[in-house]
Amino acid sequence: MRQICLLFFIVFNGLFVSSSAQQLTNQQLAHQGQYVLVIHGGAGTILKAGMTPEKEKAYRAGLEAALQAGYKKIKEGASSLDAVQAAITVMEDNPLFNAGKGAVFTHEGKNELDAAIMDGKTLKAGAVAGVTSIKNPILAARAVMERSEHVMLIGKGAEQFAKECGLTIVAPNYFYTEDRWKGLQKAIEEEARKKQQGNGYNPPGTGYPDYKFGTVGAVALDKEGNLAAGTSTGGMTNKKFGRVGDSPIIGAGTYANNKTAAVSCTGWGEFFIRNVVAYDLSALMEYKGLSVREAGGTVIKKTGAMGGDGGLIALDQKGNAAMPFNTAGMYRGAITQDGVIEIYIYNQ
Ligand code: ASP
Repeated sequence: MRQICLLFFIVFNGLFVSSSAQQLTNQQLAHQGQYVLVIHGGAGTILKAGMTPEKEKAYRAGLEAALQAGYKKIKEGASSLDAVQAAITVMEDNPLFNAGKGAVFTHEGKNELDAAIMDGKTLKAGAVAGVTSIKNPILAARAVMERSEHVMLIGKGAEQFAKECGLTIVAPNYFYTEDRWKGLQKAIEEEARKKQQGNGYNPPGTGYPDYKFGTVGAVALDKEGNLAAGTSTGGMTNKKFGRVGDSPIIGAGTYANNKTAAVSCTGWGEFFIRNVVAYDLSALMEYKGLSVREAGGTVIKKTGAMGGDGGLIALDQKGNAAMPFNTAGMYRGAITQDGVIEIYIYNQ
C-alpha cells in the first residue's frame, strides 16, 4: 500500500510540475535540441507600448551582435567558456545593457559591477563583485577562475588582481551614460516620495516608472559537449551599502554543470539568492529528472510567487534551451548549431 501511495505521489507530482512549468509559454523556442548559445539582456517591465521602433531595433542588433560573437567561437571549435565570454563582452561594451558601459548607478552615484563565469565540465568558477574600474568584469571573473586559487574577489582587491592580470582598467566615469544617471535621479525622487507617504523602505526596482533590469548573461554548449554559463551586471539602480546581487553568486545567478545545465539569471537579486535559483534548476534536473524547460519554469514560478521578478536562460548538454521569465519582457536570443538566430523581447 505504501508503495502504491508513493508511486501515485511521484506520478501526480511529476504531472503537476510539468503542467505548471509549461504554463510559462514565454519559453517557447523554435528548435528544441539544437541550440549552442543562448543569451539574455535582462528582464523587467519591457512593454512594446514603451518602446520606440529605433530602440527596439538597437536592442535586437545588440543581441544579434552578441550571439554572432559567441557563435563564431563555437564554430571555430573554441570552448563554451570562450563563447560565453565573447557574447558577454559584446553586451558589456554596449551602453544599452546594464553591464560594463551603461551600468546602473548606486545611491552614491557610482557604478559597481558584478560578474561570474562557470565551467560545466570542471565545476570551476570565478567571480568579481563591487568593482568600479574593470572595463569588462566578465574577463576578470574568468581570470579569477583560471589564474587564482579563489572563486570570488571583491572591490579594490579584485581590481588589483585584474590589473596584475593585464586587463583593461578604465576611469570610473567610463561607465557613465545619461539615461542611467536620469534613472538614478528618478529612483531617488520616488524613494523620497514614498518615504514621505510613510511607505517606509522600498527596495530598488519597485515602482519606478521606467525601471528596468538589464543584466546580461550567456550559456553555451561547445563541440566537445561542454557547458558554460556567465552573467555580468551593474546590479540594481539606487543600490546602497555595497549591495551585491545574485549575478556573481555561484548557484544563485550563475551555475553550470555538464550533468544538468548551464544557467544565467536576471531579476530581483535578493530573491534569486534566497531561492538559490540557478542551482535549484540544476538540482531539479539531477535529482528529480526534470527537463531543462520543466526545471526552468518551476524555479521561475516559485521565485515569482515570493515576489521575485525576473527570468533566466538555461541550456542542457543536448542543446535543449529554456528562457522562462515572470516579468513583462526579457531581452533574449538563441542560436542553433546551424547558425539560425531567434531574438525575442516581449511575452509571447
Ligand atoms: N539580478 C541583478 C541583481 O540583482 C539585476 C538584474 O538582473 O537586472 O543585481
